Amino acid sequence: MTTMRQRSFAGLLTALAIFGLSACGTSNATAKNATTAGRIPVVANFYPVQEAAQRIGGKRVTVSDLTPVGGEPHDLELSPSAVQRLDDAKVVLYMGRGFQPQVEEAVRDLPSSTTRVDLLKSVDLLPVEAGLAGTNGKVDGETLQGGVDPHVWVDPHRFVQIAATVAKTFERVDPEHAGEYRANLAAYTAELDRLDRDFAAALAQCRSRTIVTSHRAFGYFAQRYHLEQVAIAGISPDEEPDPQSLEAVAAEAKRKHVKVIFFESLVPKKLSETIANEIGASTDSLNPVEGLTRPQLEQGLTYEKIQRQNLASLVKGLRCRR
Ligand SMILES: [Zn+2]
Repeated sequence: MTTMRQRSFAGLLTALAIFGLSACGTSNATAKNATTAGRIPVVANFYPVQEAAQRIGGKRVTVSDLTPVGGEPHDLELSPSAVQRLDDAKVVLYMGRGFQPQVEEAVRDLPSSTTRVDLLKSVDLLPVEAGLAGTNGKVDGETLQGGVDPHVWVDPHRFVQIAATVAKTFERVDPEHAGEYRANLAAYTAELDRLDRDFAAALAQCRSRTIVTSHRAFGYFAQRYHLEQVAIAGISPDEEPDPQSLEAVAAEAKRKHVKVIFFESLVPKKLSETIANEIGASTDSLNPVEGLTRPQLEQGLTYEKIQRQNLASLVKGLRCRR
């Protein structure tokens, strides 16, 4: 994104030079300031929040994402540039309770003039589901303080509540443009509500209601659409698979007549494939929208588009009647 913007500025400067207009000391820096002037600098802790902030803030904000493109948000380690962006921000949107301890620590050090909002406070939180009996291990950052599950954004209905909090925050910081934020929120919410209704309708009648997922990211989603989640995670993607845990997941999947084992784009698919081979199932992608990869961003994918891909995968994998 930044590179593209810089490239287009460079193009603009070249054009100015060609027309002989660059004489009065126009530099890259001033050109950049001119386009961001008057916009509210907003920092979001990871992709879904960045998208919501951008859609709702529109042309009034510049939003930067603390989690690098293609990176995984749990236990994010802040780069020096991320710390700088936090210092420069007027609004910081994040998630507390130990989801990203370094972000929380940096937020605590910000001056009182920085508006900071813990988005987890705007939704009802659920306890992390117990792992399947016979599976071992845990993944860092997957259980928050109080034993609750961080993956609220995966449920479109809860994501709407997060979006509403983002809009309220912008209205408070910039009351002059409250009408714009409300209108943008209405448009964004309409899109998400439609998605929620489509999930509910498409997943109403399926031959299987068990989703075997890479990691335990679909608890809120499963609750919303009456599915049962069996997570492979707990087995760290960096370590050799723990054979007992894989065996336990495979046995459960077989018992539930699961035909598709899901994998994620930000997690190696090796474990999903191992289990699928074991029980003669296939694999398909199910994306918890923890972050988008560079190619996904370049394809113009969004939270809603990725969720629609999830919908298609689920309808096929769970053999739902449409
Ligand atoms: Zn997760």
